[in-house]
Amino acid sequence: MALPPNVHDAEPIPAAARDAIDALMQSGDLFRYTAAEDAPVTLLEQEYAELLGSKYALAVSSCSAALFLSLKALGLPRDARVLIPAFTFAAVPSSVVHADCVPVLCEVADNYRIDMADFEAKLDSVQAVIISHMRGHTSDMDAIMALCDARGIPVVEDAAHSLGTTWNGRNIGTIGKVGCFSFQSYKMVNAGEGGILITDDADLIARAAIMSGAYEHNWKKHKGPHGENTPDLQQAFAKWQNQLPLYNLRMSNLSAAVIRPQLPELERRVRLGLANHNYVAERLNTSPFFQVPEPLAPESRAPDSIQFNLAGLSEEQTRAFAIAAADKGVKVQVFGLSTDNARAFWNWQFLRDQPDLPQTRAMLMKACDVRLPVRLTRAELDVIADILLAAVEETMGKAAA
Ligand SMILES: *Cc1c(COP(=O)(O)O)cnc(C)c1O
Repeated sequence: MALPPNVHDAEPIPAAARDAIDALMQSGDLFRYTAAEDAPVTLLEQEYAELLGSKYALAVSSCSAALFLSLKALGLPRDARVLIPAFTFAAVPSSVVHADCVPVLCEVADNYRIDMADFEAKLDSVQAVIISHMRGHTSDMDAIMALCDARGIPVVEDAAHSLGTTWNGRNIGTIGKVGCFSFQSYKMVNAGEGGILITDDADLIARAAIMSGAYEHNWKKHKGPHGENTPDLQQAFAKWQNQLPLYNLRMSNLSAAVIRPQLPELERRVRLGLANHNYVAERLNTSPFFQVPEPLAPESRAPDSIQFNLAGLSEEQTRAFAIAAADKGVKVQVFGLSTDNARAFWNWQFLRDQPDLPQTRAMLMKACDVRLPVRLTRAELDVIADILLAAVEETMGKAAA
């Protein structure tokens, strides 16, 4: 069998970033509010809002910061209950706690999407909702928005890992009241660290921008659609002047300089990522022991990894499969089995006293995660698929013997 490919390196950063960084090195102008206008962070906000199809964007230090600021900008009272999926990254319940709110965990189905019956059952007890499109798997946004709109409950989309995913042709992150994205290195656009939130709500963006650290009159450098300082935006900023704490979660111009040249790459990365994913999915689905969940009908995905469930394997066999794959050179993360996994809700012990979520727990014990960077070739994808298929055959062959 050929050598397994390197799946850890990110995509190279486009060379155009070097010129932008050189210019910043020359001027030393790394703070977003120094320049009178056209700072890289401001330009990124305009380009990103336009790319996604929203009115406003606010670039910040991480997606976690964007989630925290979204909850703060919604003006939720202390101890407000926020419904989140039980399958997400620990940063999500953490952002809720950070905003002085209380996370309420919702069951997630075998297909990694929110269980709508549990969602509806818990919805009347919460004041806000965060939908985490975990690993880019989109929950039923039509059903979620209908239920939440009927109750006036705001929806924050955690689209950290969903840049490029669409729902009925609309970009994920533009469906709820706010959408939050990550530029951490494992996401579709990589700045090492960074995040951004988008919204059409002038009041919300004004509150979030001030709390992100737009002190004094720096808010005047925040622009609306087409780089214009619209009256509703100015009024919103004037209204909140001196009324809000400053948490200083700003993005540096250096990060924006690394991000901006990657935005034109997005279309290519999404196209290749989806083709790679679907190729491997088809190969894995030839095994009776693997099951790759289908996307929902309105969803078009932008994957840089693949998730699949093991079918008919005991916990011991699941562990043996992961070890066999690792021995052959492919790292499989079984979310519920790897020690201290940050995506297993029972490890969020900072929450205390959480009820069990048996459906999500059962899913996490059989759900596998394998990285599939966009740059892999067909031959490299075949090596990964061959190894996974061989590892499960070996494990289950032994079991039958
Ligand atoms: C990566 C990720 C986050 C956290 O993003 P940061 O920018 O690292 O704070 C939150 N939610 C999901 C679903 C993620 O994948």
